[in-house]
Amino acid sequence: MADRNLPRAEVVVDLEALAHNVALLAGRAAASGAATMAVVKADGYGHGAVPVARAALGAGASWIGVASQAEALALRTAGIDAPVLSWLDTIDTDFAPGIAAGIDVSASSTRELGAIIEGARAAGATARVHLKIDTGLSRNGCPATEWPELVAAANAAPEVETVAVWSHLACADEPGHPSIDRQADRFARACAAVDGRPLRHLANSAATLTRPDLHLDLVRVGIAMYGLNPVAQPEDLRPVMSFRSSVVLTKRIAAGESVSYGQTWTAATDTNLALVPAGYADGVPRALSGRLHVWLAGRRRPVVGRVCMDQLVVDCGDDRVPVGEQVVLFGDGSAGEPTATEWADTLGTIDYEIVTGLYRPRVTRTYRGAE
Ligand SMILES: *Cc1c(COP(=O)(O)O)cnc(C)c1O
Repeated sequence: MADRNLPRAEVVVDLEALAHNVALLAGRAAASGAATMAVVKADGYGHGAVPVARAALGAGASWIGVASQAEALALRTAGIDAPVLSWLDTIDTDFAPGIAAGIDVSASSTRELGAIIEGARAAGATARVHLKIDTGLSRNGCPATEWPELVAAANAAPEVETVAVWSHLACADEPGHPSIDRQADRFARACAAVDGRPLRHLANSAATLTRPDLHLDLVRVGIAMYGLNPVAQPEDLRPVMSFRSSVVLTKRIAAGESVSYGQTWTAATDTNLALVPAGYADGVPRALSGRLHVWLAGRRRPVVGRVCMDQLVVDCGDDRVPVGEQVVLFGDGSAGEPTATEWADTLGTIDYEIVTGLYRPRVTRTYRGAE
């Protein structure tokens, strides 16, 4: 079926699939008495932060998580007034606008807490702070040796309210990895050192799916909400993003003719080629050259020769595919088409990187399902 008005390269975001995934994850969390934070950093892992946040809040999430003040403020500007936590800002960040907008902030050091206190004074409002303990990722978070000092500084500052203690797991996607329990123990010790009853949150998607005992008060789900399963056990998750284009030109070439730069592929027999206007500038990795299939006219077909900046070529054998025909670069896999996870496996990376890499000005984004 030839689709009319197809953009050159188009990401389709299925918000019904997203709502399905959020309901599944929030249901698991709720069974443990935990709330759900929908993580929409990096523009919603390439799916669009605002539509994803709205759909997630409508499907059972009650918090939103982002990596920066700018991402958090963009949500407020879009009218999203749910609790938002932002956790990774630079040392010169002005926290005042975020605090004034009711954004929760994270402190990993007394230095960062100092900037937050300054922001709270400037905003004339109390900052809601999540104190982050490093329990073994050795990345963001306060080392255990400095934890008492950070907790004391937060207690002493009238400008801040410690609303949560939190940490992040290194190996939750490898269920049974000994670091998970070790981190959970260290986390429990850090929580015990904080007075009052702050919220505790530790679980990402993988831990939400595999470790209900670590759901605590709040789970932070990213990748699984987008329908990509971070663990090996099967789950009823539906990939939210599909990536497609269309055929703009077809031609028949003779046996012995080659395709694309470097002429790395030569036709063994006369064959029909289809030209697709999507290339590495649109998020089709050049490293997939010679290892990529697309779904075109009812079956998987190989992309032949090098993937170029703006285009790629599909070998259709003796099939005559019409110009204008839709090309699925990846989808949810239900028809047999490639998936983002298949791309990642072929490239030796993770599907997080594939979908996040599709946030590009030249790629049109279209939403399906209720917003
Ligand atoms: C990105 C992120 C998450 C979400 O991780 P997923 O594996 O995508 O579920 C949770 N917490 C923190 C601190 C993060 O940076």
